[in-house]
Parts: sequence; structure tokens; C-alpha cells
Amino acid sequence: MANSKSRILKGTGVGSHAVMASVHRLADRPIQPPPARRINSIEDESTALEAAAKATAKLLEDRSALAKGDTANILLALSAFAADPALLMAAKAEISNGWDAPTAIHRASESFAKMLEDAGGAFAERAADLSEISLRITALLTNQEWSVDIPKFGKHVLVAEDLTPADTAQIDAKVVVGVITQKGGPTSHTSIICRQMGIAAVVGCSEATSLTNGDQVVLDPVGDRVIVNGELSDATAPLSIVDEKAKTLIPVLGNIGNLKDAIAVNTFHGAGVGLFRTELLYLDNKTAPTIAEQRRAYESVFNELKGKPIVIRTLDAGSDKPLDFLNLASEANPALGIRGWRISQPHRQVMQDQLKAIKEAVDATGADVRVMAPMISIPQEAADFAKMAKEVGLKHVGIMIETPSIAFAVRDLAGLVEFVSIGTNDLAQYLFAADRQHHELNELLDPWQPALLRLINRICEDANRIGIQVGVCGEAGADPLLAVVLAGIGVDSVSAAAPAIPAVRTRLAHVDLELARRAADLAMKALSPELARVAVKALVK
Ligand code: PEP
Ligand code: MG
Repeated sequence: MANSKSRILKGTGVGSHAVMASVHRLADRPIQPPPARRINSIEDESTALEAAAKATAKLLEDRSALAKGDTANILLALSAFAADPALLMAAKAEISNGWDAPTAIHRASESFAKMLEDAGGAFAERAADLSEISLRITALLTNQEWSVDIPKFGKHVLVAEDLTPADTAQIDAKVVVGVITQKGGPTSHTSIICRQMGIAAVVGCSEATSLTNGDQVVLDPVGDRVIVNGELSDATAPLSIVDEKAKTLIPVLGNIGNLKDAIAVNTFHGAGVGLFRTELLYLDNKTAPTIAEQRRAYESVFNELKGKPIVIRTLDAGSDKPLDFLNLASEANPALGIRGWRISQPHRQVMQDQLKAIKEAVDATGADVRVMAPMISIPQEAADFAKMAKEVGLKHVGIMIETPSIAFAVRDLAGLVEFVSIGTNDLAQYLFAADRQHHELNELLDPWQPALLRLINRICEDANRIGIQVGVCGEAGADPLLAVVLAGIGVDSVSAAAPAIPAVRTRLAHVDLELARRAADLAMKALSPELARVAVKALVK
């Protein structure tokens, strides 16, 4: 039993079994020296940088050769980053601008990482790779050791600020039975690799660094927590992941950005696709993609998912997802500016071409495709989009609900669209007036915020009145317990990134509508996201 000396640290659990062992803290990483101007010649600094980058790429490639599966692939991808000529060129430009090599590689990788972060989703997760590469190159340039003393004997729970793929590649799962990191999310590398190696983990545990060597901990991934000085019997009982045939209370679909994601949706038994973010295909385009180019990309995804429903979204450009080829003017408040469907005013042809390409791909594959537009604020915009989609022959049309204004006008959508899909990421941003990229505003952006849930409830009631379907495709749908709440509120389907699908399916296979409704009621009545979570966890167990 948990005793008076036990202490709970919260985080995000990865895995389904609890473990108990003593803590092994990893040494801190090398530090990035403060920015410094160059004292050596451009040539000398550039040569040193090239050599360090080459050595880093080689080290990672060698480690990849010794690893297996996802770990090997991740190490290889990292090695490619280190050898990336574009990154080196950008760093050399910084050297020419007067910076020394460590500052130059840091500045170049930061600007590349920013581009990935701005792209959001899976791209943002990869931004950490660039920091690792930059730090590794810097460690070589500044003679700092990157020694990670992964234990080779005994039984331990590793505790670190974060683990890099290169660190995790050295782990022996018989010795390291658990991992706790201060940083990272459910789809970070640490999580992916721990899942693959069957190691229990709690990531994003802000108090992880309060743990010291020798502390006895119970790592309870199902309970999203670490119990310091607890006992294994304190851990939350695991739900075993349900199989492909299990019936879930509502369908769990996948969110995708390309063919690889579509394949992953099938691997994880997603019931279809709730959101195909097409803009992610064209982030690097300097010119608008042609109809033929788009058709090829959509066809490959549609073929992969044939027989399952697919919701494809038209380009959601602007704000956090700039598309160079649209040449949108820079704005003081881009999240409140020309983005999403609003780009159809200055770029009507681009939208018409995209809809034509989608129609051609539908005709070529016979896939079950529905099309939707992002960032709709008023019913007239929905009508405009529906008209344009129907003009090219697309039959199944919907819109995203991402602004409070359209959330309050759902009844006016009668006869215009067949479905709505709630983008909780943007809806929370606009409802709480909190920039979704602002890390200090995470609490306001928490999808468990009761006000957000009450608004979703209203959307469902109104959609029900006019007989249209409601999906949730924002991050809210990736939280298994919150998915239960959403089903109880009346949402018809949820969608999430492929790796999150099994856990959401499992939860939704173990509840009935009555329990989900009670969970929804508790969550909506709660006074804070935390209280909502606690109440629902106690009910749904
Ligand atoms: C959302 O806003 O919740 C959403 C799904 O769209 P995106 O995250 O692509 O803006
Ligand atoms: Mg959005």
C-alpha cells in the first residue's frame, strides 16, 4: 500500500505494465556555450564544423547498424540530419556572418527546428532531433564528453531530462525496466522506442529531476504517474490492448499527413481517416502543386485506405502552417488573419484546383471520401465551400468547427453540409484567447477545460437537431479517457495520430454509452480540467 512517505509524480504513461526498481539518474548533457563571434578564419571554422558533422553522422550510422527496427531507422534518420547539406550550408552562412562554429550550427538548427515546429504535428516532434544533432556537433567542437552511463547490470529505472535515440539504442531492456523523462510527449522518440522495446515509461514528468539515485519508484504508465516509495500493488491495473475486431463505442479514426501515416492508420486498426492534413504535403513547395501532382498524392492515400471512410481537408494554410507558394503577406496576428478557408478569397484557383484533384483521385480509386474546409467562421463561408466542392462533383461535404462563431451557428448549417469535425486545437485557441503555440498557456489549452467540453456539447445538440454527424479531429481525441467523455457528450467519432489509436480503441471498447454519459456529465460540471480528469478517472477506472 502507498504509505505516508510515498509521493506521486504526474506525467504521460507509455506502456501497459507497471514496474518497480531503483532510480538511475543519467548525467547531464553537454551544454551549448553562449553565442560567440568567430576569432578563427571562415575556412578554419567551416572545416572544423564539417569534420564534426561528418563524425556525428558516422557515429549515428554505426549505432544504427547495431540497432534494430524503429531504433535503427530513427538513428539513420538522425545521421541523415547530421549529414544534411542544407543544414551545413545554413551553418556555414552563419560562420560567414561572423559566428563561431558552435553558435553557427546552433543558429542554423534552431531555424530549421522552428520550421518543423511551425508545421505542427509529427513535424514538430522531429524538431528535437535537430537540437540533438546540433548539440552532438557542438560537443565535438568544444571537446565536451557525451558519455551516457546506461547501466549494464541490476534492475533500474532510468531518469533523465530526455533521452536521445542514440542513448536508448544502448539500453538493455532486461536491465533498464523503466524510463522517466522530464520532457517528451506520447509520440516523442523516447515513447516510440520504449514502446518498441516493451519498456514502461512516464514521459513529460515535470518533477522527474527531483528524483535521485537509489530512490525506489513504481512506474505506473496506465495511471500516468510515478509513485516514489510505493509498492507494485499501488499501480493501476492495465487494460490489455483490444484486437482488430473489438467493437468500440464510437469509431476511432486516424489523422494523417501522407501515405506513411495512412499505412500506420491501417497498422493500428484505425476505422478510417478523420483528418487528412493536405497542407503538410506542400510545406516546401515554391510553386502551387499541379492538379496531376496532387491527384497522385491523394490517390496513393485513398488506395491504401480503400473501403474505409476518409475525411480530407483542403489546404489549411497560414498562421502556424505557412505555405510559401501562396506568398501570403506577413501579418501582425497571423492566427487571426488570412488562414484556412480564408485563403480562398485571394487564391480561388488554388482551392478549385485542389478540389478538382480530390475529385479525380476519388474517381480513380472509388474510395469513400468526404471533403471539409478548415477555419470556417460563418455559415456563408460554409455555403461558399460546399458550392465550390459540389461544382466539381464532390458529394460529401463538411466543415471544421474551429472558431466559437461557427460553433454557435451549427443550426444554420442545415442543408449546407453533411458533417462537422471539431478541431479542438484551434477551437481552444480561439475560445480561450490563448495562442496554441505558447507553452506557458498549456493549462488554458487543456482539452479537458470544462468550458470547451460544454461548447462541444452544444455543437453536438445542434448538429443532432439538424441531423448531421460530428467528429472530433483535434488532439482531444487522442486522450483515451477524454475520448470516452466525448462519446458521452454525443460525438460520433474521434480521430488521432496513428500511434494513439490502440489506447483510444481499448478505452472505447471497455465502456458503454451509459457510463460514457456519466463521465461526460462529470467532466462538463467540473470546475477545472484537473478536477474533470480526476472525477472521470475515478468513474471509468
Ligand atoms: C485543430 O485545430 O484541432 C485541427 C485538427 O487542425 P490543425 O491542428 O491542423 O490546425
Ligand atoms: Mg486547426
